[in-house]
Amino acid sequence: MGYMLKEFLSAPSIYGCLQCQTHLARRDSVISRTFQGRLGRAYLTETVVNGRLGELEDRLLITGLHTVCNLYCRACGALIGWRYIRAHDKSQGYKEGKYVLEQSRIYAIDGGME
Ligand SMILES: [Zn+2]
Repeated sequence: MGYMLKEFLSAPSIYGCLQCQTHLARRDSVISRTFQGRLGRAYLTETVVNGRLGELEDRLLITGLHTVCNLYCRACGALIGWRYIRAHDKSQGYKEGKYVLEQSRIYAIDGGME
């Protein structure tokens, strides 16, 4: 109880939690870097590791009504973005299941291999 296994990503370039450096996403899982988060620019990513989801909520975004969950770092609890669960407008359906990472809450761990 209380013991948590962190997942470590192995990739040339990774995004981690700004607050605790826990790995969150591979740079090559980023679909878009031009998303608007609640804290400024944000990244849309295919997958996230070491995340914890909050309660389901309906949120009215620029692109319409979406059902989302807040996304927290599982290690330190920092709010790092959200996950799209359902887009009510079908033209936004490609976002379902994807994650938004707030750029101001993450940092790039660069292996220098690019
Ligand atoms: Zn963290």
